[in-house]
Amino acid sequence: MEKLIIIGGGSAGLAGAIYASRALLNPILFEGIPGGQLGLTSDVENYPGFENPILGPILMQQFRNQALRFGTRIVSQKIKEVKTSSVIKVMTETDEEYETEALLIATGAEPKWLGLQSEQRLRGHGVSACATCDGFFFKDKDVVVVGGGDSAMEEALYLTKFAKNVIVVHRRDTFRASKIMQERVLNHPQIKVLWNTTVKEVIGEDRVEAVKVIANGQEQTVSTQGLFLAIGHIPATTFLADSGVQLDEKGYIYTKERVMYENIEQIKSGYTLPYRFSTNIKGVFAAGDCVDYTYRQAATASGMAVSAVLEVEKYLQEA
Ligand SMILES: Cc1cc2nc3c(=O)[nH]c(=O)nc-3n(C[C@H](O)[C@H](O)[C@H](O)COP(=O)(O)OP(=O)(O)OC[C@H]3O[C@@H](n4cnc5c(N)ncnc54)[C@H](O)[C@@H]3O)c2cc1C
Repeated sequence: MEKLIIIGGGSAGLAGAIYASRALLNPILFEGIPGGQLGLTSDVENYPGFENPILGPILMQQFRNQALRFGTRIVSQKIKEVKTSSVIKVMTETDEEYETEALLIATGAEPKWLGLQSEQRLRGHGVSACATCDGFFFKDKDVVVVGGGDSAMEEALYLTKFAKNVIVVHRRDTFRASKIMQERVLNHPQIKVLWNTTVKEVIGEDRVEAVKVIANGQEQTVSTQGLFLAIGHIPATTFLADSGVQLDEKGYIYTKERVMYENIEQIKSGYTLPYRFSTNIKGVFAAGDCVDYTYRQAATASGMAVSAVLEVEKYLQEA
């Protein structure tokens, strides 16, 4: 029986592992993609403690090395199932089963991409899915934002702080964002909207130079230095389908912290445990982007996981 299993090798899982191993909980961490989302990006300029930009994969390697230094056992396997009926059990892709007193789920959320080969090739070189993270790199440049929901409106408005011009490309003739956000976008002097338009290709050798779009069967090339996708995220929580852990309609995990903050009356009664980052299941905690659909930053994800591990420690002492 393990004391703590952590699922997820991104900033949340690894930060949690550093604290858990220093607290002598001897955690095992199942990592999936080493380093998580930041392991797939380029320059990171906003993680505290680094005066100069650091490459995402190098930053995450340092997180990982630090977790290993304190004894975290990292297993390069994904978890395919979690069971919580009597004891907490996790099952790996190769059908090995582990039992644990406490579980921290930190499996993140994947941004949705358009699925174009050119988009993936230029990811981190002008193509992004995070304006908070990368907007600063586009000072006085032109950028294109794809999407029509509230997050696309937020990203477009945020980017006007840096970019000269922001073009929102939307595949329909109306936004599904809230009225107030739509009005802010539609009345903003730096923002133009291309309706009924889809992106067909991203053009550029080493950096984004333009996007090819199609509207009513007509192709046109829009010159831009940045392409921001704001078409949603998919939380990596499908493996929890039969676990009993409560998810919202998009698949994000409910924790006590979230349920209390959002004051969700219908489910509040299921979160009676005194531990702030616990799910509805005793001993199962969650942190990072698989819970948080708002901030989605490495610092917030790792901070949440550290808080969750401090709650795990309390739980294990009191259990
Ligand atoms: C393009 C882009 C640029 C970004 N730039 C920045 C930036 O500059 N600064 C910043 O602070 N943030 C940035 N972010 C946001 C940041 O990457 C996330 O907020 C952060 O990675 C969230 O950490 P996490 O650990 O919660 O999730 P993730 O990083 O998504 O990690 C989740 C981990 O769980 C693993 N996993 C998933 N399912 C399973 C499973 N079943 N079994 C085992 N493991 C599993 C994954 O493989 C991964 O290792 C950026 C995001 C994107 C998309």
